[in-house]
Amino acid sequence: MSGHPPRRRSAGAARAAGGDGVLGALGGGGDTIAAIATASGRGAIALVRMSGPAAEHVASRVVFPWPTAPRVATLATIRDPESGAVADRALVTRFERGRSFTGEPMVEISTHGGPVSSALVLAAVVGAGARQALPGEFTRRAVMNGRLTLAQGEAIGDIIDATSRSAQRLALEALDGGLVRRVLALRDALLEVEALIAYDIDFPEEDDGPIAPERVARSAGEVSGLLDALIATAPAGELVRDGALVVLAGPPNAGKSSLFNALLGDARALVTPIPGTTRDAIEAVIDAPGWPLRLVDTAGLRESTDTIEKLGIEVSERYLARAQVVLACGERPEDVAATIRRIAAISRAPTIGVLTKQDLLEAGDAAGERDEDAPRLVRVSAESGTGLGELLARVEETLASSFTVVAPDTPVVTRARHLAALRVARAEMREFSESWQEGELPAPVIAVHLRAAVAALEELVGAVDTEDVLDRVFRSFCVGK
Ligand code: GDP
Repeated sequence: MSGHPPRRRSAGAARAAGGDGVLGALGGGGDTIAAIATASGRGAIALVRMSGPAAEHVASRVVFPWPTAPRVATLATIRDPESGAVADRALVTRFERGRSFTGEPMVEISTHGGPVSSALVLAAVVGAGARQALPGEFTRRAVMNGRLTLAQGEAIGDIIDATSRSAQRLALEALDGGLVRRVLALRDALLEVEALIAYDIDFPEEDDGPIAPERVARSAGEVSGLLDALIATAPAGELVRDGALVVLAGPPNAGKSSLFNALLGDARALVTPIPGTTRDAIEAVIDAPGWPLRLVDTAGLRESTDTIEKLGIEVSERYLARAQVVLACGERPEDVAATIRRIAAISRAPTIGVLTKQDLLEAGDAAGERDEDAPRLVRVSAESGTGLGELLARVEETLASSFTVVAPDTPVVTRARHLAALRVARAEMREFSESWQEGELPAPVIAVHLRAAVAALEELVGAVDTEDVLDRVFRSFCVGK
């Protein structure tokens, strides 16, 4: 069986219809698109990129001198095609058909940064016949032209959206095709089971005798086991992708905000402010070694009649309900215990008791007594930095014990779309194995479940790329990607 991606039906059909690989009928291309690919704002350079059959023609009207040598960044003047006015001096790189990101002829123009140069260059290429690209349209074309699998296209989106090194590393691995290779291997294994059954149906009286039903059952069982292993990586994948929600809880003045800041500072965090945070909950990502931690500082947990404070408490309760780890903070063991009791009503997440402001007590004489009272509490000081490393280690340890640790050679499932497809395949395999075991239905009828499992896996890797799937995947991309 081949380990190569199955032939892309729609792309093949479009090629047949459109001649030179132009996928107009599927919205995958045909015209020439252009976009500013870099984020807006002040910066050293910006990139205007163009892709499509007319990219070179458009460039010939705005880039002087033209043509540039392929794949060589060449200094050129960009002019408005109508007025001839200079839009910018820029580095232009030309990529030929079949040797570009999208597979189409592409031209990339590195303009000066800031909003004006790139906008003028984009206007020039649009004036010369290009169309402004939609979000994700470049990557979509790369997928449509077979330069990337759909899962690899998704991985590019994940690299861009990554807010931690571990999420970016996973996405890079996905771009390398680890998950796709594993899924295709499973699909091939299923096709072999199908072949065994077909052989049995076609040649029941062969010399070798019929295929032993146990052999089919065993092969199907192996595939189901591998599907289970992949599905089991999903919670860890989600954790790496989104970060583990670690919520600081405790009464006002317990030292939560100070601890929050100290943890961010101490971890030398790649701090990413998350949009949509309220005045009462501040969120930042700590790029911890094992998992990114989404640390949330919430409003104090206490009953209140003050409306605004109440809102804050509602926010913290919402966070607590979703938390993966709760840090119950307090200055004294009894405060921590009271917080833990309150949290238990809202959250089922594992809770780590944290005794704050230990610098105030470090010289004190109550240390022995505290040890007896609270052997499992982590003692920290935001002021002196004591215990912060230990606290982060405890968080990591807690997460590791609640989530399946993924074997190093197992690709990790990070996308809901992939998980859904794997679950469909797994459910079909369950049906298959049960019916096969019972042995009451004719083999061709039971084999329908194998077909459905194969189809689910093919949809995952993007072998059956309907418009609808592509729309869903690329809708969330940025323009110019
Ligand atoms: P929150 O209301 O729980 O967020 O508590 P804050 O972080 O705002 O701290 C309340 C008060 O305790 C502030 O005056 C802080 O300066 C003080 N505080 C917080 N952490 C420490 C600490 O580790 N050591 C000392 N000495 N004071 C602290």
